[in-house]
Amino acid sequence: MIVERVMDAATISSWMREVEASVRVERDHLVQLDSAIGDGDHGINMARGFEAVVQALGADNGSPPGRLLIIAGRTLVSTVGGASGPLWGSALRAGGRVLGDQTSFDGAQLAEVLAAALASVKDLGTASLGDKTMVDALEPAVDRLRDRIANGEPVAQAMDAAAAAAEAGMRATIPLQARKGRASYLGERSVGHQDPGATSTALILRALQRAITSEA
Ligand code: ADP
Ligand code: MG
Repeated sequence: MIVERVMDAATISSWMREVEASVRVERDHLVQLDSAIGDGDHGINMARGFEAVVQALGADNGSPPGRLLIIAGRTLVSTVGGASGPLWGSALRAGGRVLGDQTSFDGAQLAEVLAAALASVKDLGTASLGDKTMVDALEPAVDRLRDRIANGEPVAQAMDAAAAAAEAGMRATIPLQARKGRASYLGERSVGHQDPGATSTALILRALQRAITSEA
């Protein structure tokens, strides 16, 4: 019998540490991608932001998981100047609000956290699927996670599929023309480049998959 695993504050801390490590390793790649169709700061933004998040969570004393997400989101907003700071900041805060003060959550609730994060990014940034933004990685991941969880799949397996969907969405941004953010100023010249924000978003979802799996 497969028992649905319980996720809690440690899952969120571990997720944020995994993101920090991942964007640090990929910082130069993210800078390269953003240099091609933006201003080249994306890797620096994400590395700086998640370093501050890990520090903030390290100083926390026993907050529930939703609260940790809200702290993480607030930290991103206050430490990242680029578009990605406010967008991921509001995403994590919206996700955190879904959990309220509960001390643990299940796969269905995790899907709702990510769905609220997506809604918040779309609300703030007004981007739709296909605009060559982080939405192109996040939306397919949320859809995939919801479907798999609804079908009764264990959360670690469902999240693996969701991270793969984000990675596919990330690669699918290459032939697109940017319609939002700095890259949109390039018009047709944005075609042929992978979107930096979709790339870091895929890293963030893969980090979540690892955070869930390493506890299994
Ligand atoms: P900036 O563009 O301000 O320099 P970053 O370089 O940190 O900020 O982030 C760029 C990424 O932010 C883009 O690759 C894109 O994925 C994402 N982005 C920009 N504008 C939007 C938007 N309106 N909605 C969703 N994502 C956006
Ligand atoms: Mg930039």
